[in-house]
Amino acid sequence: MSSESSSTPRRGQLYVISAPSGAGKTSLTHALIDRLAPRGRTVRFSVSYTTRAARAGEIDGVDYHFVSMDVFQRMIAAGAFLEYAQVFDRYYGTGAAETERWLAAGHDVVLDIDWQGARQVRERAPEAVTIFIEPPSRAELERRLRDRASDDDAAIARRLAEADDEMARAHEYDHRVVNDHFDAALAALERIFAPAA
Ligand code: 5GP
Repeated sequence: MSSESSSTPRRGQLYVISAPSGAGKTSLTHALIDRLAPRGRTVRFSVSYTTRAARAGEIDGVDYHFVSMDVFQRMIAAGAFLEYAQVFDRYYGTGAAETERWLAAGHDVVLDIDWQGARQVRERAPEAVTIFIEPPSRAELERRLRDRASDDDAAIARRLAEADDEMARAHEYDHRVVNDHFDAALAALERIFAPAA
């Protein structure tokens, strides 16, 4: 019998990163991926499906797969999501097939998802490493949200309420990283992803 293990790559590690809007999660995770790439760590950033409209500058298939509610509902019925959740009045979900393909090919995969999704992933993939990125304070979070030109007052109020909800779940995660100083937070993330480096 030929040994299957010799030709099968090591299965990739699944990571979950959650944070309230404005904690700096997106910039940090992209910087992290850039930092790890030269060391041969091909960390893939999962592209979620969402029913929300694209913001200015967002690209379909890069930032999200932007789909209609109808398509999203059909994907739920087909069991196409590793996890999905309603955040505000929109739906967000992680494609199960894509994620599995990357992991099976030996790539580490990062899911940038909310606490509801993180709970589902813990159930379905208990080996996942979960990380919560926190803003230095609620006041700083509010300042960062107000600096975002794309959101009106109602959207900011809604995001702050959702941020409080998200922050209340921080203790459920394996690691908590405070994004006070970008470089220090990036270094903390690097230690989680590449402890031997
Ligand atoms: P935004 O609309 O600002 O891009 O994202 C809003 C929230 O949705 C963020 O907390 C983000 O982590 C979360 N989110 C994005 N994609 C997914 C996903 O696939 N699943 C879940 N559960 N949450 C997601």
